[in-house]
Amino acid sequence: MLALLLLYIVVPLVQVALLVQGRSALSPLLVVNYAASVLALHWILANIFVTAKIPWFQKALPYDRRVRFHAMASMGVLLALVFHAGFKILAGKHIDAISWILLAAVLLLFAGAMLWRKKTGKGYDRSKQLHKAMLLVVVLLVFLHVAQAEYLEKIPAPSLLIFLAYYLVALFAYVATLFGAFRKSAEVVSIQVRQDILEVELRLKRPLRYQAGQFVYLRAPGVRGREEHPFSILSVPGDSTVRLAIRMLGDFTRSLAKLPIGAQVSVHGGYGAFYPGSGNALCFVASGIGMVPVLGVLQNLAKKADQRQMFLFLAIKDESEVPASVDLAALQRALPGLKVVLLRKADGLRFSAKLFAEKMGEAAKFRYYLCSSPGVRKQVLHALHSLHVPKQAIFYEEFSLH
Ligand SMILES: Cc1cc2nc3c(=O)[nH]c(=O)nc-3n(C[C@H](O)[C@H](O)[C@H](O)COP(=O)(O)OP(=O)(O)OC[C@H]3O[C@@H](n4cnc5c(N)ncnc54)[C@H](O)[C@@H]3O)c2cc1C
Repeated sequence: MLALLLLYIVVPLVQVALLVQGRSALSPLLVVNYAASVLALHWILANIFVTAKIPWFQKALPYDRRVRFHAMASMGVLLALVFHAGFKILAGKHIDAISWILLAAVLLLFAGAMLWRKKTGKGYDRSKQLHKAMLLVVVLLVFLHVAQAEYLEKIPAPSLLIFLAYYLVALFAYVATLFGAFRKSAEVVSIQVRQDILEVELRLKRPLRYQAGQFVYLRAPGVRGREEHPFSILSVPGDSTVRLAIRMLGDFTRSLAKLPIGAQVSVHGGYGAFYPGSGNALCFVASGIGMVPVLGVLQNLAKKADQRQMFLFLAIKDESEVPASVDLAALQRALPGLKVVLLRKADGLRFSAKLFAEKMGEAAKFRYYLCSSPGVRKQVLHALHSLHVPKQAIFYEEFSLH
């Protein structure tokens, strides 16, 4: 959070201070206008860096949280730009063609993002590509706009350096991810299909650095062009292969089932921060395919022979839904403090405060790690809330970055 505070608030405000210092007779409205333009400029560039798929700084800034934060910051950009444009129009200033095009491009950028959230399949990826392309257009137009306003000549040297640093870092992030600087080639070693779940095993040429419970982006040649989709890692660091368990939901995931053994794919990661901290009592709650990161974390704890008290609440159709490579009984043997509660479809059990209280007793002393569909998450959060579990003790992984 400190990094985001620096990137989005402290440095841009220093820039505003540098810009207005020594200028006499600036009305408060003019200062706000300067602030709006400087903040919008730095936030656009910071957003590029923050959303670039770079597997560094996951502990300080997990990728999934960065993406959600950028959506919030983008609303700030929109407000700041509308203010900046409105101020110029109301002040009767001339607005040149570049500035109008920039405003239109920003609106398109937003439209692309809003559209993307509602799409699936090809539409999802096309609107994502449009959003990325528009971003590049916006950044170029911003540079022209700033150059035309003679901003670069007016600002003091330290301010110019900060501005260029933001541009260079954003450009590096954009180009590095565009050309797949962090992508690693992998060979498909095995594929197993059970019900509608694929278990894919990959052997990487260069080792992948990841933490249990993190996720990777997977791209497979011939499977929907250059698309890459996120999947949690089922295997644990130190394993000779990387395993993923994938529910066949749409085109991309269904096409993966047809990959031949030996097919060359690529992955990059690990992203996210879904791994338990230091709490003495841990409770994992998962439903359906949401079990993947949870089982990854538990297998890693088993490898370390973790002695802590733990619960696993797992809602599944039946045991055949559990990936073949995971042995729940072996997991329990390796983790003496672990109790597994299965909520099978046929049993009709649901996550509820009553269930948690009955099984765990003092529910408020646990730290919770949850991965499920949004509907189930709502039920679980409601139950935990009524058991007085503090919000800070609940961590969850979402299978959506919106
Ligand atoms: C952090 C994270 C971890 C995940 N881990 C797993 C996992 O371990 N196992 C698993 O089965 N699924 C996982 N998913 C979900 C998986 O990424 C989607 O189910 C898959 O991308 C759907 O693609 P599709 O073309 O088959 O289906 P579609 O019908 O095209 O898409 C279904 C939904 O998946 C999402 N989606 C589609 N394309 C993308 C994309 N390129 N990037 C991000 N989201 C997309 C959209 O919300 C879309 O509405 C994870 C998602 C995230 C964000």
